[in-house]
Amino acid sequence: MKAYNAYDNFLAVMDKAATTLGLAENDYVALRYPERELKVSCPVKMDDGSIKVFEGYRVQHSSVRGPCKGGIRYHEEVDDNEVKALAAWMSFKCAVANIPYGGAKGGIKVNPQELSLGELERLTRRFTSMIAPIIGPERDIPAPDVNTNAQIMGWIMDTYSVQKGFASPGVVTGKPLEIGGSKGRAEATGRGVMFATVMLLEKLDIDVKNCKIAVQGMGNVGSIAAKLLYDRGAKIVAVSDVSGGVYDENGLPFDEIYAHVSQRRLLSDYKNDNLKRISNKELLTCDCDVLVPAALQNQITTENAADIKAKYIIEGANGPVSVDADEILEKNGVIVVPDILANSGGVVVSYFEWVQNLQCFYWEEDHVNELLKNNITSSFNEVWELSKEYKTSMRLAAYMVALKRIVAVRNIRGICP
Ligand code: GLU
Repeated sequence: MKAYNAYDNFLAVMDKAATTLGLAENDYVALRYPERELKVSCPVKMDDGSIKVFEGYRVQHSSVRGPCKGGIRYHEEVDDNEVKALAAWMSFKCAVANIPYGGAKGGIKVNPQELSLGELERLTRRFTSMIAPIIGPERDIPAPDVNTNAQIMGWIMDTYSVQKGFASPGVVTGKPLEIGGSKGRAEATGRGVMFATVMLLEKLDIDVKNCKIAVQGMGNVGSIAAKLLYDRGAKIVAVSDVSGGVYDENGLPFDEIYAHVSQRRLLSDYKNDNLKRISNKELLTCDCDVLVPAALQNQITTENAADIKAKYIIEGANGPVSVDADEILEKNGVIVVPDILANSGGVVVSYFEWVQNLQCFYWEEDHVNELLKNNITSSFNEVWELSKEYKTSMRLAAYMVALKRIVAVRNIRGICP
């Protein structure tokens, strides 16, 4: 079997979308390559006095539609290929959401759990200094992603601002409220996943209360999506995190689980003898109607795609389904709401945060949530309609919506020189 390559996955879907739209190669060939890739080595003084060097990346895939936008992840498996794919997915995600951004992504190869808070701060500040020449509010705006949070965004904002000599809140989103964060941003990705789930069920005339839902990943995205769906009456039958998962076909006591995971505690430390312990792999193929993979990429592959029992998959994570697995799911009639639509809530509210920073005027949470709902509703409808018109999967339709928008701008702007 060919090794998984996230960027090849991106290219395969983009090429198919371009062919389906009948685009000329000239229209989109530039999108096959990231505009700019930066690799940095970050020396950090560790608490024991030794110096450790960490590898980091910032890739800007496209700035055609506006400043590049995308998160920064801290993970041991980060590499240039993965960051490249994540950056390209951001260009397409921002285009589907119709917010005026291109796409970027960053990452540091590190297990943040092995660092003290001081080491984490020094690493973040050093990385920020090293990517500072290519970021900025009108250039490239980072945000949280896997294993990064509001505090880390605060350090990025501070380091960049100190270099510039003035406070520059618009350089990064997902910040703490006190320094220019937006109300509703922390929950936005999970809230968007909930909206996407509810919208799909509405289209199919299914009541969310009759649905059994399984969620892989109890981080910021999975836990909030599960909580909001639970509050709407859905039965959450399975959840998991890095330590494994729990399952109950009659529905888990999710209020209790949410209180537990919100304190950043692992599910393996959650004691409840009435629940069945399952592995992450078992969660993916458990008996449920809706599956929300909200952990990492490449979870549903040719190895387990045929065993998926869910009829609907809502991609909370970026790239959780491989291209080959997609084909198997499609053949089996499984509807996938793709990442670039389903998890776009985060970047949409990042956009609102940036707008608030630029205008120095801050909005109420209800307003933010309403704008988010409007945004996801229109992008969902647009993708849904196009998928009906062309009789394609929602993933291909989402890429087509994005590609049309990016290519339209590219053609008006032209190629310089
Ligand atoms: N990391 C999130 C994503 O993958 C959010 C990006 C952002 O807010 O810029 O969409």
